Amino acid sequence: MSVKAAVPLKKRIRHAIADETLIAAVKKTTDRLESGKLSSSAALGNWEQWREQGSRIRSHVVEHLDYYLGQLIDNVKKRGGHVHIADSAQEAVRIFLQIAKEKEAKSVLKSKSMVSEEVHLNKALEDIGVKVVESDLGEYIIQLFGEAPSHIIVPAIHKNRHQIADKFSEISGEKISQDTPTLTAFARQQLRKEFLEADIGVSGCNFAIAESGSVVMFTNEGNGRMITTLPPVHVAFMGMERLLPSFEDLETFVNLLPRSATGQKITTYVSVINGARHEGDLDGAQEFHLIIVDNGRSNILGDEEFQEVLNCIRCGACLNVCPVYRHIGGHAYGDVYPGPIGAVITPLLRDDMEEWGDLPYASSLCGACTEACPVKIPLHDMLVHLRARKVKLGLTPGWERMAFKAWSGTFAKAGRYRLSMKAAQLMIPFLAKEGFIEKGPLNMMGWTHARHFPSPAKKTFREEWGRIQQDLRSGEGDSTGGEGGDCHE
Ligand code: SF4
Repeated sequence: MSVKAAVPLKKRIRHAIADETLIAAVKKTTDRLESGKLSSSAALGNWEQWREQGSRIRSHVVEHLDYYLGQLIDNVKKRGGHVHIADSAQEAVRIFLQIAKEKEAKSVLKSKSMVSEEVHLNKALEDIGVKVVESDLGEYIIQLFGEAPSHIIVPAIHKNRHQIADKFSEISGEKISQDTPTLTAFARQQLRKEFLEADIGVSGCNFAIAESGSVVMFTNEGNGRMITTLPPVHVAFMGMERLLPSFEDLETFVNLLPRSATGQKITTYVSVINGARHEGDLDGAQEFHLIIVDNGRSNILGDEEFQEVLNCIRCGACLNVCPVYRHIGGHAYGDVYPGPIGAVITPLLRDDMEEWGDLPYASSLCGACTEACPVKIPLHDMLVHLRARKVKLGLTPGWERMAFKAWSGTFAKAGRYRLSMKAAQLMIPFLAKEGFIEKGPLNMMGWTHARHFPSPAKKTFREEWGRIQQDLRSGEGDSTGGEGGDCHE
């Protein structure tokens, strides 16, 4: 099903960069996450080898996905669990609503699950009058604001403590102070009764272990454990690629995931759920369901240029280093997955370049995302491939195609190239002020809207090079170019 972005990308970006609170909050948290990642990965040592190993394991799983999915499904069933395969978001929601109907569920409590966000589970439940409550603190906060997550790991990254305290005060009817212990105590108090009343607990799945049929969750707040043990029914949502062959492989990701996501050596809880409560178990749900969601992933399988994106472990590290994400936050990307991973995976999952083909342009192609990725996904190459795909599909505007035709025609011949440089030089005095162009012409205006463009040098590289050669020939002057490298090609 084609899903439309509610507002065009440029408009979303303009809206985001005008919000100074958002930019300050995103910068502060991404700085903290990135420096934590750098120090914890350095302390572990051999980070590159860990990345290599992570990449190798994930590529192996994705290449043999049918085999490992089959093994997982058999093992979950052997443990008494129910497995459902959902081809699409609508199918995943339909399966869940059927379970909720059979259990006569009135209330659903959730821990963090990006896949349940992807299929828009909350909206579907609200539409039929089932109460749905997020129990992860960040998710709880944005649910109160009626917003979507704006970071994969830190959903409320764009909110500061003043905004959160105001929202908590509004719902409690009394003044709640802005200090962290008070805010968390308030949320805990509100959520406690929800845990006790919930008919179904919904969780995500960081990894499923094929050899044992286990679901593994990395959490920090303890809510994940309560959700999977207190309500009578536990439903886990899993993207169909989130598999590991064995517990031995999990060791690599226990090292890679928390460090890349939050800079922790390990999250407070690493929970391994082996289906519903078995005889002799002290706790656990009475019934366990695993919903394995495709929703466009099989479109990517077998695609040489993009299959590796299925190696993603949703750590969020690429967001924290991306200069674009750090300036616009997550909502500007318009869909569930923000940042560089969102710019790649959204058009692919949606299989709709017409609607989502602008996202790969929300990147400076600096490559920081690829450097940061713990499983070495070449994100910036993929962004270029997606741009090329958009061009091949004829989805770029007519003026852009003409501009590139003119550009390639000009740069193909030395004479035309020199002439164009001369013309640009003539324009500089009209555009530049004190070494910078503050308002660029035509499409450059978008670039200079948020920053100044350094004024090109007065002499071109060729002019300067010609002068140097002349000086050398006549035996005069300094062959280093004298005037200090103030030149451009
Ligand atoms: S693409 Fe890499 S860095 Fe980005 S979320 Fe996925 S695993 Fe993490």
